[in-house]
Amino acid sequence: MTFIGGHVGQEDPIGQAVEIGADCAQLFLGDPQGWKAPTFPHPDGAAGLKAAAEEAGVRIYVHAPYLVNVASTNNRIRIPSRKILDQQIKAATEVGAAGLIVHGGAVTKDDDPDVGYDNWRKAFERIQPTLPVLIENTAGGEKSMARSLEGIAKLWDTLADFEVGFCFDTCHAWAAGIEFPEAAARVKAITGRIDLVHANDSQGDFDSGRDRHANFGKGTIGVDNLIECIQLAEAPAVMCETAFPGIAADIALLKSRIS
Ligand SMILES: [Zn+2]
Repeated sequence: MTFIGGHVGQEDPIGQAVEIGADCAQLFLGDPQGWKAPTFPHPDGAAGLKAAAEEAGVRIYVHAPYLVNVASTNNRIRIPSRKILDQQIKAATEVGAAGLIVHGGAVTKDDDPDVGYDNWRKAFERIQPTLPVLIENTAGGEKSMARSLEGIAKLWDTLADFEVGFCFDTCHAWAAGIEFPEAAARVKAITGRIDLVHANDSQGDFDSGRDRHANFGKGTIGVDNLIECIQLAEAPAVMCETAFPGIAADIALLKSRIS
């Protein structure tokens, strides 16, 4: 069975997951745009959230803040990124999450990308993952670590000695110019695994570099293309990161088409 669900807010994450018919839910623990330590969206903290999720039969995934960029050559970004990654791993483990999703990151245009890949290696040397850390492919940026197939291959080569998971985002792959529907299969041929799919249609065109999610059928990928790609991923969980209230229909559609 594939877990199918969506990204929820921090007001009442489990209640919201149930409302939209999700068997898995992704959330942030705190400000997704900030450098602050994680917080738990439940009156009884991490244990309360974990118990609520278990009771509702919802599998949780945690998405790390967007600012995290362990590849960065800038000390003032890379060092706090490692610290936050560490905090998020601990916090996600406490809530019983099945994985922590973190973006592949990037270096700036004058940097040597090799330094960025090596910074990923250094990050993995320092952390002690107590749950699967899933690196997500990104949509844009010329010197992103995990945007193109070549970049993902380079990253996987660099991290060969570590246990690393992969989160495949359909919108990002499309915007990065990886051909559909075979994109997921081509990524999986490199990584050997896709632990989670972020299932999103795309407002931006193919190869546009734009990270703008759309509800199914409201974007440029098209529903059949999207479903075919998701099926090729053969992932244990599929998560919509699409807008409310349409996300409930997106989840229902996935449930009717993905076994
Ligand atoms: Zn995503």
